Amino acid sequence: MNRKIINIEAIKAAVTMQEVVNGILGYTLDSRNRCACPVHQGKDKNFSVKGESARCWSTCDQSWDKLGLIMAVRKVSFTEALTIIANYVGIPLQYADSRTEKPRFLKAPPRSVLKPKPEYDLIPEALFKRSLKHDNRNHFYGFLQSIFSEDIAISLAQDYQLGTSKYRPGACIFWQVDQQQQVRTGKVMVYDPVTGKRRRDIPPQWVHRLLDLHKADFKLTQCLFGEHLLAALNREAPIALVESEKTAMVMAGIKPDVCWLACGSMSGLTARQCEALKGRHTILYPDLDAHDKWTKDALKLNEQGFKFVVSDLLPTKASEQDYLGKFDLADYFLKQRDDQAGFLVLDGVPVFW
Ligand SMILES: [Zn+2]
Repeated sequence: MNRKIINIEAIKAAVTMQEVVNGILGYTLDSRNRCACPVHQGKDKNFSVKGESARCWSTCDQSWDKLGLIMAVRKVSFTEALTIIANYVGIPLQYADSRTEKPRFLKAPPRSVLKPKPEYDLIPEALFKRSLKHDNRNHFYGFLQSIFSEDIAISLAQDYQLGTSKYRPGACIFWQVDQQQQVRTGKVMVYDPVTGKRRRDIPPQWVHRLLDLHKADFKLTQCLFGEHLLAALNREAPIALVESEKTAMVMAGIKPDVCWLACGSMSGLTARQCEALKGRHTILYPDLDAHDKWTKDALKLNEQGFKFVVSDLLPTKASEQDYLGKFDLADYFLKQRDDQAGFLVLDGVPVFW
């Protein structure tokens, strides 16, 4: 029985070529839309994506459209390739006799296909997972190793699912993963491996932008950095919210009995971004220059069911110099770093003792 499929174009239009490569085929395009060729599976990045088409400039010396590429990589028929896209985007195949047939899965479907499609878009899981390897290419991870012990650095990187990016040498990715373990997006940043200060000459970048997903109408809804940790936490567990991702991770190394989250910026203290904290007792530690703003914001949010208390610790302890440097909580603790050895000392004792 050979029935005519009538919504081929709609299914093809529902994914971008980038999604086919990154999400369906599980390869990772770099910032210039290049990667190793998934067809001949070479090592060098001589495969590139431009608009709706992909091309291998080496062994294959050939171009493909989305369906052609899936057919070539997975060695499947046209209809099977179409079914793979249909499953990925959740659009059933429609036949000329207007009956709708549920797409059948050829192999075990990726988890993202089984989940109901949320109102926001997500980063392909394969890409997220591949970023979770840590070595000395990740400068922020190197910094964590220098102030804490190796063990603490490893467990911090695992807990916060710290990613490594090839976007710039040394770059790390602070992923925003929600309580359902869905990856909303990630912030790519570069730190100095010795001082742990952010490289001001390299502006932060978003993963969904680097993947060019924003051009495909990527519906971004940010969540908190570290939000996935809440899923395993009881409702009464102590939670602290800070501005920067770095502060959250450094503080988690210093005070591991508290769950440290970050909202990413001074203006990130909003009902939408902090939704997961509604009803949970949370202590806010704003940067010194954000103390007044966060105090006002918290008052408003508490009328909407949040339970925020703004800590006075930093303003109480800060010197004039600290105010000038717009100190945050991590800066305050990092002042107590051993000059020679580099590790963090609290009350005369290294943190990892
Ligand atoms: Zn090739």
